[in-house]
Amino acid sequence: MSVQVTGIEHIPLIKKGDNIAEILCKNTSFADGDIVCIASTIVSKAFGYTRALADIEPSERAVRISKLTGENPRFLQGILDSSKDVIIEYPFILSEVPCGHVGVRAGVDNSNIEGENIIILPKDPMNDAKRIREGIKAACGRDVGVIITDTCGRAFRRGQCGTAIGWAGMTAIRDFRGDHDLFGLELEITEEAVVDEIAAFSNFIMGESNNGIPAVKFSGCGSWKGHDSLYFTKEEDFIRKAIHI
Ligand code: GDP
Ligand code: MN
Ligand code: MN
Repeated sequence: MSVQVTGIEHIPLIKKGDNIAEILCKNTSFADGDIVCIASTIVSKAFGYTRALADIEPSERAVRISKLTGENPRFLQGILDSSKDVIIEYPFILSEVPCGHVGVRAGVDNSNIEGENIIILPKDPMNDAKRIREGIKAACGRDVGVIITDTCGRAFRRGQCGTAIGWAGMTAIRDFRGDHDLFGLELEITEEAVVDEIAAFSNFIMGESNNGIPAVKFSGCGSWKGHDSLYFTKEEDFIRKAIHI
């Protein structure tokens, strides 16, 4: 298997109302079966998931957390507003956002946006990935899988990685259960989070600061069978049960 990975260059600074699918098709040529990873930052900017800090009124909770962390209470309120379930408040907010993703600061960013504004994660990234996939089909006629990514920290390990928060055109998980290993042993629990693996490598190409590469094309990944239940249910997630405030 050989996979070609290409950072898509010459994408402008994205603003509200921009058509990401058309911009991608203008700056790269897609083939059927390609996968494109797109940084959630530009999806949020294009679809208007941003807020001016000046418009955010901090609650008592945000003020209380800001006294502990030293962060701007308006920024913290933006995080709380983006959260469906706060799991940890201090030393940083770790919470679940409406789509099921769990992340530090609810994925709220103040980088790569001008002025005193914050970028919040797309509220329904599965649907946004589907819209962009359909947009690519409309713009250049190609059948392209789409993964919306965000850079996230991980429990137990230092260093951030790209993570998939929305996808369309593939299943999140490649399911190996029922397959046999080299010695005939039947695999009972192995499920591979392929969308996260691809997202993680795309993040390596994107970089974090001023690279200006918010989208990465993968050619040659092939296809796989599996399912989309990427997030543990609350009942399954024993770590969350152990730490919930
Ligand atoms: P996140 O991981 O989704 O939070 O996005 P980042 O802020 O880490 O940005 C990922 C990549 O996209 C970096 O290379 C940024 O320089 C780039 N980037 C962010 N916004 C824009 C934009 O509007 N236009 C372009 N061309 N690149 C951007
Ligand atoms: Mn981010
Ligand atoms: Mn990033």
